[in-house]
Amino acid sequence: MAHVVVLGAGLGGTIMAYELRDLLGREHRISVVNKGTKYAFVPSNPWVAVGWRDRDAVSVDLEPVFRRRQIDLHPQGARRVDPKGKSIELMDGTVVAYDYLVIATGPDLAFDEIPGFGPEAETNSVCFIDHALDARTAFDRLVANPGPVVIGAVQGASCFGPAYEFAFILDKALRDARVRDRVPMTFVTPEPYIGHLGLDGVGDTKGLLESQLRNRHIKWITNARVDKFESGHLFASEIAEDGSVARAHDLPFAYAMMLPAFRGVEAVRGIEGLTNPRGFILADKYQRNPAFPEVFSVGVCVAIPPLGKTPVPVGVPKTGFMIESMVTATAQNIASLIAGRQPTAVPTWNAVCLADFGDGGIAFVAQPQIPPRNVNWSSEGKWVHAAKIGFEKYFLHKIESGRSEPFYEKLALQVLGIEKLKAVSLEDTSQILGQKVR
Ligand code: FAD
Repeated sequence: MAHVVVLGAGLGGTIMAYELRDLLGREHRISVVNKGTKYAFVPSNPWVAVGWRDRDAVSVDLEPVFRRRQIDLHPQGARRVDPKGKSIELMDGTVVAYDYLVIATGPDLAFDEIPGFGPEAETNSVCFIDHALDARTAFDRLVANPGPVVIGAVQGASCFGPAYEFAFILDKALRDARVRDRVPMTFVTPEPYIGHLGLDGVGDTKGLLESQLRNRHIKWITNARVDKFESGHLFASEIAEDGSVARAHDLPFAYAMMLPAFRGVEAVRGIEGLTNPRGFILADKYQRNPAFPEVFSVGVCVAIPPLGKTPVPVGVPKTGFMIESMVTATAQNIASLIAGRQPTAVPTWNAVCLADFGDGGIAFVAQPQIPPRNVNWSSEGKWVHAAKIGFEKYFLHKIESGRSEPFYEKLALQVLGIEKLKAVSLEDTSQILGQKVR
C-alpha cells in the first residue's frame, strides 16, 4: 500500500486528492494536510469584496466529502516539510509520513517587501477570503465617504487578471451605488503595457483592456515600481527602458487594492533542492522535483521562470486550466510510479482565462502559454460574466461532490471548440495503467 499526501486543499489540492482517489485503488491511502477544514473558491473573492457573495456562498466543508471519498484530512496545517525524512511536521507537532507528496500550498503573499503594504497596513487584498471580507467593509466605507481609488499590482506580481477584474467590478459596484462620479480611479501596474498579463499579451488583450479602462474612466500607469504606501498615499516610480526613473507618482487614495508578489509558503521555503530562492517548488516536466523524486507540486507554488526582461519585474500567471493540467499529469505520474512504471504524463500548461468585469468580461486562450503561439485568442462580451458564474457554480459543485472532472478543458473543447487544447485524458490514463479507471 502506498500513502500519498497532498499538502494544501485549495483549487489544485482538492482536485488532486479526487483525481488520485479516482485513479488509485482503495488499497492505497490518500491524505490531505490543510489549514482548516473549509475550501474557499479564490476566483470569487473580487465579488466577495464588493458584497456580491458572502463566505458561505463560496466555501465548501471538506470533511463530509473527504470522508465519503476515503481521503484523510489533517486540518492542523504544516509547519515544515522534511523531504529527506519523507514526512511533514504539523502545527501541533504530529508527524505525517508519506511515500509520495504533492505540494499544493498556493502563494505566500509578500506584503512585507513594500512599506505600508497589505491588509495589516494601508491597503486591501482579495487574495484570501478573509482579506476579501475585510475589503468589503472598506468598500462600504468608500461608498459612505467617496474618494480616490488605486487598483493594480506591484512589482514581481504574477496574478494580473484579478487586478483588472477587481478594477472593473469595483467600477460597476460604485456605479450601482451611485457614487462612481465622486471616485477617481487609477490602475497601477508593473506590466510594460496594459494587457501584458505576464504573458506578453494574449490575442488583443492590450487593445481590449485599454479600451475597457478608457470607457470606464480609469486612468493607468504602467512600468510602475511601488516604493511605499504612507498615510493614504501610493508612492510609485515609473521606470524607463534603461532602468532610470522616468517619473515619480504620488497618488492619494481613500481605498487601495494591489496584488502582491507571491513566494513559497514558510513550510517549504529554503529547503535545499526543493525550492528556488523565492520558495517556489522546483519541478521537471512531469511536475516532479529533481532532488526528491517522490515529491510533486501543482498550482501557484510551482517555480516557473519569468517570460523575459521587462523594465519592472513581472511574473508568469498560473491559472485554473494550467493547474488542472498539472493535477491530471501528476495523478497519472504517481499512479505510474506506484504501478512500477516511469512517469510519462506532461501537463499542457496552456492558459485559458475568464476575466469578469461585473457586467461583461474578456476571455483568452494561449497555447502554448509563452509566445509565439499556435492559439492566441481573446474575446469580450457579456457571455464572459455568465461563464464566470458558471465556472464558480460548477467548481464548487465539483468540490462538494468529490468529482475530479476538469472544467477548463470542457470549456476549451466544448464552448470554444479548441480541440488542440485537449489535456491528457482518463482514457490515456487507462492506457498508462493498463486497466479501467474508476
Ligand atoms: P490555493 O487555491 O491558494 O490553495 C492553497 C491551499 O494551501 C490553501 O487551502 C492553503 O490554506 C493551503 N496551505 C498553505 N500553506 C499551508 C500549510 N503550511 N499547511 C497546510 N496547508 C497550507 N485563476 C483562474 O484560472 N481563474 C480565475 O478567475 C482566477 N481568479 C483568481 C482571483 C484571485 C483573487 C487570485 C489571487 C487568483 C486567481 N486565480 C484565478 C489564480 C489561481 O487559479 C488561484 O490562485 C488558485 O486558487 C490557485 O490554486 P492553488 O491550489 O495553487 O492555491
